[in-house]
Amino acid sequence: MAWFKKVRKPIEPQANKESRVPEGLWVKCPSCGEVIYNKDLAATLSVCPKCAHHFRIGAVERLKMIFDGDWVEYDRDLRSNDPLGFVDTKPYRKRLEATIASTGMKDAVICATGRIEGIETSVAAMEYTFIGGSMGVVVGEKITRAIERAIERKLPVVIVSSSGGARMMEGALSLMQMAKISGALARLSRARLPYISVLTDPTTGGVTASFAMLGDVNVAEPKALIGFAGPRVIEQTIRQKLPEGFQRSEFLLERGMLDMIVDRREMKAAIARVLRFGLPSPAAEPSALVES
Ligand SMILES: [Zn+2]
Repeated sequence: MAWFKKVRKPIEPQANKESRVPEGLWVKCPSCGEVIYNKDLAATLSVCPKCAHHFRIGAVERLKMIFDGDWVEYDRDLRSNDPLGFVDTKPYRKRLEATIASTGMKDAVICATGRIEGIETSVAAMEYTFIGGSMGVVVGEKITRAIERAIERKLPVVIVSSSGGARMMEGALSLMQMAKISGALARLSRARLPYISVLTDPTTGGVTASFAMLGDVNVAEPKALIGFAGPRVIEQTIRQKLPEGFQRSEFLLERGMLDMIVDRREMKAAIARVLRFGLPSPAAEPSALVES
């Protein structure tokens, strides 16, 4: 028997802090523990009424929240053809089929035009439940087209990010989307049209490293995880505990990475305010401003 024994501390269990809106009648807020009736949560745009925790929401809910009413969706049927014939734990083709069946979407972004407080805008909203909101060829192409559509029709652009980054199943082709979208945004900027980037929980990887950080104004939701590599990956690499609030919106705002943090319940008004400020006067026709 050994005299001294090195007691190995078990690895701290990962607290289950991921926020989602589960199905069922009641939802427990992962932040304050408040039990909330599902319908009440819908009324507050999936923000906890007690502590203002922002639950993750899908692309359709997001568009409903931003637009005044109906919107026109584009490129709805674009879908990936698995260019690399990629297989991990299961073939990418199978994974795509299953995700398309479960989400009813063909890929991880919805691109639409509609009015925000009367201002016609081209909006792209990402869907996190579609393979982690990852950006493959289809997401890249759809967002690029949404920007080009805006240039053609002289509209401002809003992109709501919610993404784990580039889609590894499409390898380098995913990474090329970063350059493609950034190029389109440069053309938008040359056309003097504003682009607002809305960063929600989580916005990481190649999405942060390209269009999510290129907004004329970068707006984030409170306490959103925003970074390049996730905190868990960094912790495992440097073997150190990261400071409290690392890679959260508030931390990034303080260091100049973001322009503002806006509560979801005030997001639409804030976007409209920035759009009115950023649009050249002929594009913001008086008719568009007077409405409401
Ligand atoms: Zn709460």
